[in-house]
Amino acid sequence: MYEIMTPGPTQVRENVRLARSLACTNPDLDPDFYTYYKETCELLSSLLHTHSRSLILGGEGILALEAACATLTEPGDRVLVLDNGVFGKGFADFVRIYGGEPVLYTADYRRALDPEALEAFLRSDHNFKYATLVHCDTPSGMLNDISVLCPLLNKYGILSVVDSVSAMFGEEIHADDCGAGIICGGSQKALSAPPGLAFVTISPDADALMHSRKTPVASFYANLLAFDRWYENQWFPYTMPVSDIHGLRAALKNVRDDRDFVNRHAQIARVSRAAVTAAGLKLHQETGFSNTVTVFDIPEGVSAKEILDMVRQDSNIMLAGSFDVLEGQVIRLGHMGENARPEKMAAVFHALDRALAVLGVPLDAVMEEVFREQLDA
Ligand SMILES: *Cc1c(COP(=O)(O)O)cnc(C)c1O
Repeated sequence: MYEIMTPGPTQVRENVRLARSLACTNPDLDPDFYTYYKETCELLSSLLHTHSRSLILGGEGILALEAACATLTEPGDRVLVLDNGVFGKGFADFVRIYGGEPVLYTADYRRALDPEALEAFLRSDHNFKYATLVHCDTPSGMLNDISVLCPLLNKYGILSVVDSVSAMFGEEIHADDCGAGIICGGSQKALSAPPGLAFVTISPDADALMHSRKTPVASFYANLLAFDRWYENQWFPYTMPVSDIHGLRAALKNVRDDRDFVNRHAQIARVSRAAVTAAGLKLHQETGFSNTVTVFDIPEGVSAKEILDMVRQDSNIMLAGSFDVLEGQVIRLGHMGENARPEKMAAVFHALDRALAVLGVPLDAVMEEVFREQLDA
């Protein structure tokens, strides 16, 4: 087994694995399970500081994104797709699949979305049914400030769909304050449960917009309206993955009971960036650094694959490259959830120091030392 230090899936704590082995009920027929599911959704909402309702969906994180788009989009709808990363742009596909007309607002992939520039655009065009944006665009590690962007979109009457799959919990989210429409999350990132569950948190405005549609949703599995009155009617649109939800509940409690969770993420991210920079490596982004993933450009004379293979074979640690436009361009260190522990990240830097030395990449500093020193500072 490798030590997975990737930006999702992340390591899973033993109490989450054990929770997944609890006895299984029939989730369609057991009244206690409906209550259990409801309480788990409420725990999720409370951790996002919102009164909005949440739903847990049986499917990978992507299902949350697709379900939000499927349920909001009607043929011909104009949808603003905020694009400063691979996932940002990817939303256009979901909009198109469900008959909408995506309008891309494309910005610098190395910088967080600039609210002033966006507002200049919105002044000239704000006739959109909703907008999509990504909280942390994981392939580049780009963090967009949803606490500013969602209110800005609201000011122009545009509901927001936020992909926070790789940011949620690693970044503090005050969903009610920021006024996001639908926030999407997944089990396998900072929550540190295994992959398999997605969740959506739906504001009353988003609820109203979904229910105002005239045409049927062109999907069954991705139709959020299929959950209407699930609790009153004791009925789910499909059989819920009981064991996954037991695990999720344990993982949510881990986050709830860990008072230092967000601070630890912020500190580890800051110190990781310091170590990378001190060594003379180049952080991929210019602005928009996330608490959950650190991304640096591949230095001269070596390939991403060589670094990743060396770290895996030599130190048993799995790091990630990237994909799409960033294929082969960067290395990503995932320090979210159970990965966000000082000792684990110190081991990552130890492994990188060794691998880069063997591969003949000169470094200006020993990253592990910088990491440990600055952590204690
Ligand atoms: C991980 C992730 C998802 C879920 O997608 P998978 O590739 O299926 O894991 C969605 N959005 C973002 C930003 C993610 O990091």
